[in-house]
Amino acid sequence: MTDSSRCPRCGQLNRCAQAGKAEAVEDCWCFHSPVDAAVLDSLPAEQRDRACLCPRCAQGLPVEPQGAD
Ligand SMILES: [Zn+2]
Repeated sequence: MTDSSRCPRCGQLNRCAQAGKAEAVEDCWCFHSPVDAAVLDSLPAEQRDRACLCPRCAQGLPVEPQGAD
């Protein structure tokens, strides 16, 4: 089962306002930040549209070590 509050790429909290909510939220960082298409392409198909990427991964930045948050 996918944890929608965590980034499928790095496992950090994605801080997405929409994560885990059934109703549409009005605002979230991900509505404003372009997501790197190469990152989306690198995800398994079953993880796309399931959980938001974290802000770093959305920009295609290197994955942070666990525990940095
Ligand atoms: Zn991430």
